[in-house]
Amino acid sequence: MNLILMGLPGAGKGTQAEKIVEKYHVPHISTGDMFRAAIKNGTDLGLKAKSYMDDGALVPDEVTIGIVRERLSQDDCSNGFLLDGFPRTPAQAGALEEMLEEMDRKLDHVLYIKVPREDLFKRLTGRWICPTCGTAYHEVFNPPQEKGKCDKDGSELMQRDDDKPETVDKRLEVNLEQTKPLVDFYEEKGYLRNVDGQQDIDQVFVDVDKLLQGSNA
Ligand SMILES: [Zn+2]
Repeated sequence: MNLILMGLPGAGKGTQAEKIVEKYHVPHISTGDMFRAAIKNGTDLGLKAKSYMDDGALVPDEVTIGIVRERLSQDDCSNGFLLDGFPRTPAQAGALEEMLEEMDRKLDHVLYIKVPREDLFKRLTGRWICPTCGTAYHEVFNPPQEKGKCDKDGSELMQRDDDKPETVDKRLEVNLEQTKPLVDFYEEKGYLRNVDGQQDIDQVFVDVDKLLQGSNA
């Protein structure tokens, strides 16, 4: 089963990835992990990627694609994979398609966990954390007993810069802009499967599961 998992920040992609891996035993391949492994193993492409990252530059597509190719050729991917964070652009998606063709494989599904932007905003900006013990809270989903205070030690809760409204808004904007062309690309190819991410986590997975057990395209 060769899958791509897509979703904006806060859509619950990580949780669904875990559930898919648990049930279908395909390796979860996230771009970040892949880069770290290539660098750690000192592969040529890993070292090349590192030189760009050290300069604070974007890693060029050809390097990224090469690293994906290395990863997908490994034994644990022989029965399938779950790609997360790659491809990021239609150009990368095209390269992936060619690569799979060369490997005599094809994509089965592209899952897109869809949550309206206002809801993602609510989810992401509601996060508060205790600076003393690190316990995480959420205004809506997991509120502390007393507003703004940690249940365990009474510390004043804090919001990370990443979770502040203006940062979240910007991040969603950038991600939406980046995701749209890719969603269109896969929609046109007939691979895109929309999943309603507004339901509770278990129900989202019921839907994912149904899609994965259904037929291709
Ligand atoms: Zn605390």
